[in-house]
Amino acid sequence: MDLAKRMDKMQASQTAAAAAKARELKAKGIDVISLAVGEPDFNTPEYILDQVKEDMYAGRGHHYTDGTGIVELKQAIIDYHAAYDNVHYSLDEVFIADGAKMILYYTFQALLNEGDEVLIPSPYWVSYIEQVNMADGVPVIVETDAKDQFRVTPELLDQYVTEKTKLLVLNSPSNPTGAILSEEDLRAVAEYCLEHNILIIADEIYYRLVYNGHEAHSIAGLSQAIKENTIVINGFSKAYAMTGWRLGYALAENKYIKAYGKLASQINSNPSGLSQYAGLAALKGSDSHREDMRLAFEKRLNAAYDELLTIPGFVLDFKPQGAFYLFPDCSEAARNCGYDSVTDFADAIIEEAHVVGVAGVAFGKADHIRFSYATNEETFAEAMKRIREFVISKS
Ligand code: PLP
Repeated sequence: MDLAKRMDKMQASQTAAAAAKARELKAKGIDVISLAVGEPDFNTPEYILDQVKEDMYAGRGHHYTDGTGIVELKQAIIDYHAAYDNVHYSLDEVFIADGAKMILYYTFQALLNEGDEVLIPSPYWVSYIEQVNMADGVPVIVETDAKDQFRVTPELLDQYVTEKTKLLVLNSPSNPTGAILSEEDLRAVAEYCLEHNILIIADEIYYRLVYNGHEAHSIAGLSQAIKENTIVINGFSKAYAMTGWRLGYALAENKYIKAYGKLASQINSNPSGLSQYAGLAALKGSDSHREDMRLAFEKRLNAAYDELLTIPGFVLDFKPQGAFYLFPDCSEAARNCGYDSVTDFADAIIEEAHVVGVAGVAFGKADHIRFSYATNEETFAEAMKRIREFVISKS
């Protein structure tokens, strides 16, 4: 039987494909280092596991829950954002689902009519484009510049806005660049969106993973008007090493939450009950475990950044401030090694140096490669050594 035409129109995630490539090489017995995946290498902290075990045996999380999530977790999320960002939501302004990715999918399904335009600053996280396409929207790529720290400004947006523009996706700290939008830039962009009737989709999944004194706060904390004009999307995957539990949430006006609930009621009923209790445990426990992981990432960033810059022809115009990726421009190195494109160069690094990164074309910047440093320092250093030797031997 033929597949539906819509399957021809969409692409599988290239980060998932790179991770699969690493697994394939490993299965062949090749000593491959994967810096492809976007997830902490830590296991979920034990205090969460202990609490979930207790919940499970006490009979919690065994059944369907409310489609928008359990009240206890919603309340814990509200309290967390009130304490950390001084932003105040009510219970009917929270939606919990199976990961931020799912919520982004729901968001575009709920908001886009055919032809509606969505501004997406590039470099972007891989799934925004495909998810907008799946909702019959039109992704409009807003080109930002490494030399300008990938800033998004009203002047820049103005070049792309049309009467069809409906949404702007902001991802700060950013995957893949690790750039954080300053409070000043966020405010200017948010004010611009209010003036132009553009709803902001703020993907803040990395906002607790910030380093070396940099800070990222929720855009919704800037003013009441901005809060009302923003859907905040966040989750447990990155900050709490809980990618496998699939748990994320949205904070937004109730009309959006109702739409999410309607979609969820026909798509997955509710996120896993046990995962919701795990999320509750994460937020109720001491913050020290999350902080320990953040500090480990900070140490790794500082080491990884120095390591990466020892590779001839790898250029990083600024040091990442958050998330856990390095996104160097590798065009000079690719040219020096005789490759026509950085994508070919990235493939050769996989095949010959046995280090898997993700070619930047997946993020809208074909001259770059993304390397995750969510791995131990020795492994990252070994990966960089392999690439360095490869580059030197080919140049
Ligand atoms: N948003 C960004 C920018 C991400 O990098 C990711 C995961 O890689 C997600 C959303 C999805 O997170 P979740 O695991 O909560 O679905």
